[in-house]
Amino acid sequence: MVFPSSVFHFPSSALGFMKSLREISIQYIKGVGPARARLFKNLGIETVEDLLYLFPRRYEDRTQMTPIAMLKLGETQTVSGKVVGKASRRSWYTRKHVSEAVIDDGSGRLFAVWFNQPYLERYFKPGLRVVLYGKTEVYKKRLQMISPEYEIITEQDAGLNTGRIVPIYPLTRGITQRYLRKVVRASLDKCRDDLQDILPVPVRNKCRLPNIRRSIENIHFPESPALQEEAIKRISFEEFFLFQLSVIKRRMAIVSKPGIEHEIDLALVQEYGKAFPFSLTPAQKRVIAEIAADMQKPAPMLRLLQGDVGSGKTLVAFFGCVAACRSGHQAAVMAPTAILARQHYQAAQEMFGRGPFRGLRMACLVSALKPREREDILARLLKGDINLLIGTHALLEEEVKFKKLSFVVIDEQHKFGVRQRALLSTKGTNPDVLVMTATPIPRTLSLTLFGDLDVSVIDEMPPGRGKVETRLFTSEQAGEVYRTVREMAEKGRQAYVVYPIIEESEKLDLKAAQAMYRHFLENEFKGLNVGLLHGQLSREQTEEVMGKFRKGEIQILVATTVLEVGVDVPRASIMVVEHAERFGLSQLHQLRGRIGRGRDDGQCLLIADPVTEDAQARLKAVLATTDGFKIAQEDLLIRGPGHYFGRHQHGLNELKFANPVAQIDILELARKEALELTHADPELASPANGVLKDVIVKRYPNYLDMIGAG
Ligand code: ADP
Ligand code: MG
Repeated sequence: MVFPSSVFHFPSSALGFMKSLREISIQYIKGVGPARARLFKNLGIETVEDLLYLFPRRYEDRTQMTPIAMLKLGETQTVSGKVVGKASRRSWYTRKHVSEAVIDDGSGRLFAVWFNQPYLERYFKPGLRVVLYGKTEVYKKRLQMISPEYEIITEQDAGLNTGRIVPIYPLTRGITQRYLRKVVRASLDKCRDDLQDILPVPVRNKCRLPNIRRSIENIHFPESPALQEEAIKRISFEEFFLFQLSVIKRRMAIVSKPGIEHEIDLALVQEYGKAFPFSLTPAQKRVIAEIAADMQKPAPMLRLLQGDVGSGKTLVAFFGCVAACRSGHQAAVMAPTAILARQHYQAAQEMFGRGPFRGLRMACLVSALKPREREDILARLLKGDINLLIGTHALLEEEVKFKKLSFVVIDEQHKFGVRQRALLSTKGTNPDVLVMTATPIPRTLSLTLFGDLDVSVIDEMPPGRGKVETRLFTSEQAGEVYRTVREMAEKGRQAYVVYPIIEESEKLDLKAAQAMYRHFLENEFKGLNVGLLHGQLSREQTEEVMGKFRKGEIQILVATTVLEVGVDVPRASIMVVEHAERFGLSQLHQLRGRIGRGRDDGQCLLIADPVTEDAQARLKAVLATTDGFKIAQEDLLIRGPGHYFGRHQHGLNELKFANPVAQIDILELARKEALELTHADPELASPANGVLKDVIVKRYPNYLDMIGAG
């Protein structure tokens, strides 16, 4: 059983222990003592509770090892054998230090190879018995594993380290797996009976979950695959359950506040639909209707709008702004970058500068404004002269005060933290809030994760879009890619060339945007109009570059990932991504979303030399589909939810072990139970739920505020 790499360690936060366990320093566990206790402390483990809630990262079934002779190439397997030889050398080619050990298990021989870990030499003495875990390959006619995980096994190890399902813990620096297992075993023996169960008995019975003692025992030392599975289910359920209890409460706290009842005319909705040179897609119309309905209600709206890149979310969001302004209020749109904020502002000016919505008075607030401009905007905002304010984080500053803010849009919401999202809303009195994201997630999952949001989905693209073809090249083939770009530019097409960092860094040895820009001017793109865009340009410079690119005066735009979010230049149809292996999957998808926005078919040319398995998986996925939902699903699986959503996202920090993607069934079960419990005992006031409440309050500190008892 392997978990994605975000599963792991619990801080000494509140779990279902009696006080005593949280107070017992691990120093008093057999085999630890003060010196080792300090070592543990570096790893964030101080108490017995911390240790028992340090869950395995994965397990190895060592009841049966794979004989070396039967190893399957390309698969990750566990073998056990005797060290029969070792060697170390320096590679003349890569200059790396190479250590090798030869392992024999009677059925065959295997080479284990490690780089730059010279101390390993002392480790692998011939005659020792070792366990290796890694991927097998054939290199120069010999069978080998590169950098396998390893463990030296002694006679006393039977029972804990071999012949069973063995836990592999996430922390190893200075502490070996074997030692950790010993200490966990000793802690369990000493303290297991003091573990206290926080799950209400009826819930446990109904969901057939084992008690906490049995669960913690088997999460560390599973007695059988069945008991292991049961323990994993129980521990995950508990996390999801607490998470959902807090999510549900948050939702109740928000919708119970008095919001603003907007007056929205049906005529306005119809008029809006006709205000553009194209007709709205059915999905856009549907979501506009959903927003209109929410805005008319007295309860504050809290809605997540998901739609793939290019699906036309901006228009939909602007509808809410128009409706708010029409009913005498103010609206705010916050975007994560100045480029994006300016782009929204320009789009709004184009859309509403003339025609039926002329009355909108708008401004754009970013941090780079001149003091005079800024003061002017702030003053007019407070007076209500400005009714639509578009900007960046700059909107969050304290001096930004509205007269009557009633509608808030947060674009690319994953780029903001929960607190920032909430902060903008506090500038009005419970305004309606629309958060938007272009990194969509499956609907069931978003409902369960963001249980505190209603979800709207734009699930179709505007018609008449070109198709985007994606191709992969190695860095050796870059010349070919540049030639293609040049040919197309000469035919009048526009292209982006994207780099992961700005300055050339010896360490990462990346071709940076700046250096390549200069290089292109003299070489591959000589004679063409080439521009450079990165995050360190001033506002004027950025506007100048983007303006020229928009007008077609720049043919090839060399850029950093400032392009990643939202940039909308329909004429650009070619994108080159250098070092594509360094980009996350959703990032690649976002980047690719910059092209194929017009009628021309797009070409996305990825240049990459993927080494890691993850990078290979990412590139494979981005080549396989342009469907944002499929990409998102894949990305969640590759990265794990914590990294996917960003650690600051609500609640996910608290999911250390449970994985909402792989364990969606358990998540949904926990949600159902949490809803029922909240219904039956909204304040968790019954004594039977007392322990549970204590734990939730510790883990989700604002829980008390939410139930109005803070
Ligand atoms: P995203 O959902 O990625 O934020 P945008 O709102 O930036 O997408 O829209 C992308 C482009 O599609 C814009 O140029 C916009 O004007 C255009 N667009 C939006 N809706 C439609 C539509 N119904 N028909 C044609 N083009 C549209
Ligand atoms: Mg957008």
